[in-house]
Amino acid sequence: MQQHLDYYSLVGFKPDSTLPDELDRLGLSAQQTALLVDFDGTLVDIAPTPGSIRVTSSDKALLDQLHARHGGALAIVSGRNLEEIVHYLDTFKGTISGGHGAELRRNARTLPGIDCNFDRLEHIKSAVMEFAVIDPRVIAEDKRFGIVLHFRQHPEVEGKVRDFVGCLIEDDEEFEMQSAKMAIEIKPKDVSKARAIERIMQFDEFRGRDIVFAGDDTTDEVAFAWVNGQGGTTIKVGEGVTAAQYRTANPASFKKWLRAQFNSAQLKLARQGN
Ligand SMILES: [Mg+2]
Repeated sequence: MQQHLDYYSLVGFKPDSTLPDELDRLGLSAQQTALLVDFDGTLVDIAPTPGSIRVTSSDKALLDQLHARHGGALAIVSGRNLEEIVHYLDTFKGTISGGHGAELRRNARTLPGIDCNFDRLEHIKSAVMEFAVIDPRVIAEDKRFGIVLHFRQHPEVEGKVRDFVGCLIEDDEEFEMQSAKMAIEIKPKDVSKARAIERIMQFDEFRGRDIVFAGDDTTDEVAFAWVNGQGGTTIKVGEGVTAAQYRTANPASFKKWLRAQFNSAQLKLARQGN
């Protein structure tokens, strides 16, 4: 019988006692803040495979409510392909950044993606796919602007994967390795979630607002650092050493906090109406 694997302990993250869970103290002003959130591990629980996540109708309703409450200044900032986020969040009208910023969608319109050496990327993908066939403990996730090697059920293979990717892209001028939870990704060097947020904040509905960014993974740390530098607010979902200012336990507690923000605003409006 397969044992249930605790994702965070597998990754080796330890609780950081210097950052207590005190998200409840943070209140959002819908008029002044732009809300930017990661997807996997932040809004939805991480699943054994990228394709087995679960998005509920209540999750979608929450995002729709927040999108209206923040005057459109709500964005999903994910490492996944843009089309996958659009598929999972089919009712969402807000901005979506996919591929760590390589792809962007605003007002239901997909903007031109970044320039990328697709010939070189295809060579890299072929090599990774072969590696995953030879060692089936590794699951290769083909992305439009990169490729990910997942080893969620087999943490013992990380060193081998890291060595392989290191050799594959050694001295590469355009692509680099990025570590994530139980995965290693190859992506263009000039894309990051920090760059994605910087670009999104130039849109009219976001510009001038205070940034609030929430994420769970090591790939979110560069965005935490950038947002902190802009005087924004950063929220880490889950355990692990982080540059974020606030922490909450898991996607469920994060969404509970988001719902409380929405409900308190509704309550205030109702009181004003009376
Ligand atoms: Mg994530």
